Amino acid sequence: MNLDDQQRMETIDLAVEGEALKQCEYHGELYDSGTVDLQPAYTFANRKFTRGEVSSFRDRRGMTEAIKTLHREAAMDCWQCEKQREEYP
Ligand SMILES: [Zn+2]
Repeated sequence: MNLDDQQRMETIDLAVEGEALKQCEYHGELYDSGTVDLQPAYTFANRKFTRGEVSSFRDRRGMTEAIKTLHREAAMDCWQCEKQREEYP
């Protein structure tokens, strides 16, 4: 699915706050926290949607699909941290 910039940014927030993804504190890169069950993140996002706190998605389905997409795209670890570890072990 194609996300515009605003949707992508909002999905990142939802996924990180909902603990589907982690964001590197040094580089801001997203990576998979090892969460296989995305349900808690969906529940979190839906709760925000209900409260009217999600602005860039018109329906819940698009929002949860976006979380799934981002999670699938995420690497296992922050690639920049990984690179640093390789260069300075
Ligand atoms: Zn990093």
